[in-house]
Amino acid sequence: MTFKHTLAFLMTLSVTSATAEELPQAGNAWFKAAQDTLAETLKQQPNTDTAKNVIILISDGNGVGSNYATRLYSGQLEGGYGDDYVQPFETFPNLALVKTYNVNAQTPDSAGTGTAIMTGIKTNSGVLGVNENVRRGDCTTIVGNEVATLNEVMTDMGKATGVVSTARLTHATPASGYAHTVDRRFEYKLPEGCTQQADIATQLIDAMEAGTIDIALGGGRRNFIGKDITDEEGRKGKRAKGENLIARAERLGVQYVWDDMGMALAKTDGTPVLGLFERSHMMYETERTGEPSLAEMTAFAIKALSAKGGDQGFFLQVEAGRVDHASHASNAARMVADGKAFADAVAMADALTDDGDTLIVVTADHEHAVAFNGYCGRGTNILGLCMEIDDAGVEHTGEPALAKDGKPYTVIGYLNGPGSILRKDRNWNGGRPDLTQEEALDIDNVQQALIPRSSETHSGEDVAVYAKGPWAHLLEGTLEQNVIFHVMYHAATQ
Ligand SMILES: [Zn+2]
Repeated sequence: MTFKHTLAFLMTLSVTSATAEELPQAGNAWFKAAQDTLAETLKQQPNTDTAKNVIILISDGNGVGSNYATRLYSGQLEGGYGDDYVQPFETFPNLALVKTYNVNAQTPDSAGTGTAIMTGIKTNSGVLGVNENVRRGDCTTIVGNEVATLNEVMTDMGKATGVVSTARLTHATPASGYAHTVDRRFEYKLPEGCTQQADIATQLIDAMEAGTIDIALGGGRRNFIGKDITDEEGRKGKRAKGENLIARAERLGVQYVWDDMGMALAKTDGTPVLGLFERSHMMYETERTGEPSLAEMTAFAIKALSAKGGDQGFFLQVEAGRVDHASHASNAARMVADGKAFADAVAMADALTDDGDTLIVVTADHEHAVAFNGYCGRGTNILGLCMEIDDAGVEHTGEPALAKDGKPYTVIGYLNGPGSILRKDRNWNGGRPDLTQEEALDIDNVQQALIPRSSETHSGEDVAVYAKGPWAHLLEGTLEQNVIFHVMYHAATQ
């Protein structure tokens, strides 16, 4: 036996007989931190009480990859490398992976995924609150194919319900809580001869009248007023002349607010509230002015719904709608800034509620065609050029990693989108530009992509669902997306 073999033999013996504290790496900081994590996990006890309140927060398009970018961005804002940063929902004890496909789509859209989360069934791409037996766009097929939404079910249980989004309130994800439509595009008008359903904006006010939505805060003012009506910001509506759903809501006793000041002054005593803070989608977080943040809207909704629901509690859906829009534009800077605003909203919801009686579910409806290039050293700006690993240190060398064409590349890229390197109209001659770090870090930078498309696409990859509170432990394993509804429903009824 050689010396080398003897040593290996001895090492094997000592390792198998050792406790974790006796291992040679026991003093290592990573080792100790992991031991602490294990100790915390061993302490966890499932909560099988009834969930008085249920809150689902959806970051639209924030799959596991997009979420990685936001984590690094948030950590780097605080001066760290970013990798070890922990977002508020990443401390939640329970987690599952979610399969997001629609009945007829390998790559889902937000209407089909929203319907899965909010009704408990998967359905087709592009439709809301109906099963897959409808034909998209054909109103005659809706009869008999409508399904109940969680807002309707929770209202039946005596709970107050609300919807909050930075997108138009008539957009797919917020509408999945109250609308039944054969096409998500019927936001403010219907095709000729469609008499079997109302347009989505009308359905929201119908829901407020029926009491199945008590608080609705978001964008999309233009879809509630006629072409002849000028809004508070001097812009015309999109509905038929003379139609004014905001006036109708006010006649029903709903408080209407249109800016951050108005929301700050509105009553949170249980009176219904309609907040329409922008003509179309609300502003990106990077430009936001005169509008409440997602966290502020979440706080307002929780206060108002708590007052309305009383002992029966409430159900609230919160959506960060513009994370998705920034990715469609391949504009990673705004994607992560809105992603951070979403994390702030999660922290707000958690701070204002009690883990003992409130189930908080955090998820995305789908991922995007985003990807992360390597090999970058620690501390590489997540929005910038990939910097070389320093073999002698922890932080990157400050030298951009170069591809085979001799050019640097950003960490974040999209496989398709407006930043395609095949686009001749950008003077790129069909090749990759010599991107500087300054250009890469510009707020308006469009990430490089391969396949040319005006709008980058979703992807069908899994997303994560994080949860805490009563019955959160039911979210485990790899789940079909519609299971999320069943866990929320079970938690509220047990
Ligand atoms: Zn989208």
